[in-house]
Parts: sequence; structure tokens; C-alpha cells
Amino acid sequence: MAQHDTDYLIIGAGATGLAFADTLLQESDAHITLVDMHGQPGGHWNDAYPFVSLHQPSAFYGVNSLALGTHRKDTVGHNAGLYELASGAEVSGYFQQVMHQKLLPSGRVRYLPMSRFEGLEAGTARVTSLLSGADSTITVRRKLVDARHFSPSVPATTKPKFSVAEGVHLVTPTQLTQLWQDTRERPARFCILGAGKTAMDAAVWLLECGVPQTAISWVMPRDSWVVNRLTTQPGEEFFKHSIGGQLAQMKALAEASSVADLFERLEASGQMLRIDTQHTPRMFHYATLSQGEVQLLRQIQHVIRKGRVLAIERGALVLEQGREALHENTLFINCTASAV
Ligand SMILES: Cc1cc2nc3c(=O)[nH]c(=O)nc-3n(C[C@H](O)[C@H](O)[C@H](O)COP(=O)(O)OP(=O)(O)OC[C@H]3O[C@@H](n4cnc5c(N)ncnc54)[C@H](O)[C@@H]3O)c2cc1C
Repeated sequence: MAQHDTDYLIIGAGATGLAFADTLLQESDAHITLVDMHGQPGGHWNDAYPFVSLHQPSAFYGVNSLALGTHRKDTVGHNAGLYELASGAEVSGYFQQVMHQKLLPSGRVRYLPMSRFEGLEAGTARVTSLLSGADSTITVRRKLVDARHFSPSVPATTKPKFSVAEGVHLVTPTQLTQLWQDTRERPARFCILGAGKTAMDAAVWLLECGVPQTAISWVMPRDSWVVNRLTTQPGEEFFKHSIGGQLAQMKALAEASSVADLFERLEASGQMLRIDTQHTPRMFHYATLSQGEVQLLRQIQHVIRKGRVLAIERGALVLEQGREALHENTLFINCTASAV
């Protein structure tokens, strides 16, 4: 059995583990070992759908020693006028750079991909390689750092919690982009399941790819409050919206008489947005959108508000609060993973 020792053993080479390792490297002379079940650094970004991007400007993301992005504003698309959002591929490439240009060249970092942390006993950790099955032990001289707390669930790695009848065409957002390989008949309708950021991204993607809004149905168990991306911009130019927005938030927090009242105040001050102004959101998971994306999403008229999906049958959805008949040739897009 292989045996190593290290000062800090970090479980997880996602954004959290990498940012911690990067700072530790700058501010100490410690030796660091990173262990992760994924084959590449970046954690959940390895499993993300191809049209994913950061919710918020690249300037606010990543590790201290290396800037992410080029600090440019988008000039086209629904984020025009606001700072760039790194795509999932860019985030993954960036974390590769962090590993290969910053951490490993220091000579003080060991990275064990495709390896599972199994436990720690008397200062010695046990790690198993997912490929060879070989066990190794690592003596931890200073600290074990658990950087897997966030571990968001994403559709590609989460099983649906509803039953799916034979012949129903259900895809993850990743499989949606691979539809060109599908030999089945072209879907007559698209039905998005879920109301979080993944569902919003899928809806924007479909509309931008030219699917008419009349061909889209959207299962929205709860409407969601959404952060107005304008309030998350860096730099003096956006000071009124970013720092001014913080002030508005404090004021709303101080004056609100209830949670519902708080969110209405945040909407009135431009902090929060909602897709449908006729419905009161009951959910807030920090999804962030531009006003342009909200306008686009408002085009979708067939929104099914009958609770969560219990089952998909051919030609119908069974929901907590009733059934919804749909075209037999509907493509269902599963965006129901709960993220964080
Ligand atoms: C689609 C999406 C967009 C997002 N956009 C933003 C944004 O714009 N801004 C923002 O601030 N945040 C954003 N987030 C939040 C995001 O979760 C965090 O920014 C961050 O990526 C989380 O990183 P993490 O390292 O905590 O978790 P993860 O990326 O999940 O990493 C944890 C790692 O731990 C490993 N692991 C778990 N168990 C073990 C074990 N036993 N042994 C070894 N390894 C193990 C896993 O393999 C994984 O690689 C977004 C999240 C999602 C899902």
C-alpha cells in the first residue's frame, strides 16, 4: 500500500478546495494534498451542461492568485452592457490552469484525481483510487480540510424523483444539446421540468436556438425570486447599483414586516426580479438573471403551476395538484436537481 504524508489534506478540488489551497500556498510553506473523485479539477463544473455559465460576473469567481476572464463587457446577447460571465468550459479550463500553472509547479502540492477519501483514523487518511482500486494512506501532519460541503446536485448526476413511463422521451440539459444525434422523430413540444436556474438556462437556450415560445411548456412548482444581475457588477460605473443596492437591502431588511414584504421591497428597489409579475414567488435560491433574460422568459405562456411532478406518462404529466395533458411527442427536460 502506497504511503504519503502532507501538512494539509484537502478533500475536494472544486472551487472551494482550490481557492483554499491557492491561499494556503501563498501564505504558508505548507505541503498540500488534494484528493478528488473527479478526473479534472473544478468539482461540479465537470458535470455541467454545455450551455451553463456563471450567474454572476467572472471578476467575482475563482482563486486569489489568478483572475478569471478578461474583464470585458458583453456587447451582444441578453447580458449586453454587463460584465462577461465565464461559460462552464471556461471555468473548467480556468481551474485546469490553476492546477497546472499555479498549484503543481510550486512543488508543494500533490493532486490525486479519481480518488475517494474514505476516512481518517489517528491522523492517517485512507484514499482509494477509483480506477485501479488501490488503497493508499496519507499521514496528515496538520489538518484535514473538508471542501466538499457545497457539493451541489446537478441534473447530469441526479436521478429524477418521479416515475417515467416506457416510451417517454426525458433528457438532461446535457442530452438536450446532443439531440442532433437522436434518430427519433423531432419533438413536437418541449416541456421544461423545474423552476431553478438550470430550468431558466434551458428555456433561454431553447428560445435562442429558435424554438417558438408556443412549443414550450414549463412546469413551475414555485415561482422564484431572481437577483437582478445589474446589482452584481464590479467597478465604479455600477457603484449606484452594487453598493447602492447593498444599502437598499439593509434598509429593506430594517423596515420589512415579513419575509414577503422584504422581497417586495427588494423588487421595488431593483434588487430582485421575477419572471411573472402576476404570481408571488415562494422560492429564492440565488438564481441571477439580466433584465434581458427575464424579458425573454416572459414570452413562455404555457406555465404549469400544479406542484411537483410525480410521474410522466405518455401524453400527460401527473403533478401534486392534478394532471396536465401534453402532446404525445413531447421532449421533457429534467431540470429538477436541487443544486445547492
Ligand atoms: C450551474 C451552477 C452555476 C453556478 N454559478 C455560480 C456563480 O456564478 N457564482 C458563484 O459564486 N457560485 C456559483 N455556483 C455555486 C457553486 O456551487 C460554487 O461556486 C462552487 O463551484 C462550489 O464548489 P465546491 O468546491 O464547494 O463544490 P464542488 O464543485 O461540488 O466540489 C466538491 C468536490 O468534492 C469531491 N468529493 C466529494 N466527496 C469526495 C470524497 N469522498 N473523496 C474525494 N472527493 C470528494 C467531488 O468529486 C467534487 O469534485 C454555481 C453552481 C452551479 C451548480
